[in-house]
Amino acid sequence: MRRTNVIDALKAEAIGQEIKLCGWVRTRRDSKQGFSFLEVNDGSCLRNIQVIAASDLPNYESEILKIGIGSSVEVDGVVVASPGKEQATELKAKTVKVHGFADQTSYPLQKKGTSFEFLRTIAHLRPRTNTFGAVARVRNEICRSIHNFFLSRGFVYVHAPIITGSDCEGAGQMFSVTNLDLNQLPSKEDNGHKKVDYEQDFFGKPANLTVSGQLEAEMYAMALTNVYTFGPTFRAENSNTSRHLAEFWMIEPEMAFCDLQGNMDTAEAFLKTIFSDVLKNCPEDMAFFNERIDKTVIETLKGIVESKFVRLSYTEAVDILTASKESFEFPVSWGTDLQSEHERYLAEKHFKSPVIVYNYPRAIKSFYMRLNEDGKTVAAMDVLVPKVGEIIGGSQREERLDVLEERMKEANLKPEEYWFYLDLRRFGTAPHAGFGLGLERTVQFVTGMGNIRDVIPFPRTPKNLEF
Ligand code: ATP
Ligand code: MN
Repeated sequence: MRRTNVIDALKAEAIGQEIKLCGWVRTRRDSKQGFSFLEVNDGSCLRNIQVIAASDLPNYESEILKIGIGSSVEVDGVVVASPGKEQATELKAKTVKVHGFADQTSYPLQKKGTSFEFLRTIAHLRPRTNTFGAVARVRNEICRSIHNFFLSRGFVYVHAPIITGSDCEGAGQMFSVTNLDLNQLPSKEDNGHKKVDYEQDFFGKPANLTVSGQLEAEMYAMALTNVYTFGPTFRAENSNTSRHLAEFWMIEPEMAFCDLQGNMDTAEAFLKTIFSDVLKNCPEDMAFFNERIDKTVIETLKGIVESKFVRLSYTEAVDILTASKESFEFPVSWGTDLQSEHERYLAEKHFKSPVIVYNYPRAIKSFYMRLNEDGKTVAAMDVLVPKVGEIIGGSQREERLDVLEERMKEANLKPEEYWFYLDLRRFGTAPHAGFGLGLERTVQFVTGMGNIRDVIPFPRTPKNLEF
């Protein structure tokens, strides 16, 4: 007996085959003619296969009639043409083995639609719903597409460390990593102040979870030319929004001998490839999102694949925002950072398309972004999309040693702590650029899911660490 999954068993070619199929029952219906119909799903696709179990099966009374939603079954049978219009095939059972019943009085996933809020409290079971199964498959397709995009272009996949001894952007908001006993911290005197003695900590110095793999990617780009990282990153930012997680996945390509223009071209081609791969390879799941979650997702993605992204400078963006009649919560003026409401206005209302904003004021961007000729702006770029806002942040990096050191002092960073980063500029420096794409923001955008907590299996957010 050949083991088959639902997606293959539903194909017309399967008709006549004897197969073994395993999965979880979504519904059971009994007919008066002495049959039971089981809708079985195994996660291989959105659809269920209908299993027909006749009353002459030996365990019909004792087991099959007791199968409830959520039970797991192993069915041996023959695939037959379905009289129904919705599917090509169904499975006539020769044997139905029940691996595990699910108590219907306590199983939380009954047929009725349940809210996403409630499903977050049962994150261990929510992958069994249509929505979360579809999210998992689309997320998986996005990851495949990302790897394909870079690997087919000769980029090398580099693994950046998750525990880091350096603070990438000199920003706070990091999680510290320690094995010291927090109730009995070893301390030492430092200029009359009592401080934690990190020499006694595991690494002998403070350690953190990474907020970005960029610095490491830069080091490898300065040898391998084109590289990318793809891993989890952590930010202890207390922003309870529908677009922020404390643990999220980021893809960070870094390209040597590349400027801001090349960076924008890569980012645009990259997003378009992801969107067209998902449309091509996940048509059924995408049709589901389009019907149930957001009626515009497919049309939007198709439009983007065919369009050219709007590109405009920060200065032009500020002009558009100040000229707009929109009443923003945060006022806009040259020199302030764009808030999410401004980003969304540009992408959603003004241009109705993805937008790349570049050349931001130096004061609001990181020290490593390349200073432009005007001395006022840096070669940064953000890709903004409707509904989600910022999906990519990137820049051409400062490759000039003296300028970089100057910028570090401005940002109150100690150049000694970045000696390795500065070394890259001392030895064979080269123009280079890169960006970071948030995986979850991408999944959100593609699926239309409103809350980022629903596009990662087990979301980590302030005051929430279940599962
Ligand atoms: P935002 O202003 O939206 O907080 P950021 O400027 O902090 O974003 P970057 O540091 O440029 O973002 O990070 C690169 C990408 O990582 C962003 O474009 C976004 O897609 C994603 N990202 C950043 N912070 C988060 C977060 N807390 N949760 C999920 N994704 C994030
Ligand atoms: Mn942020």
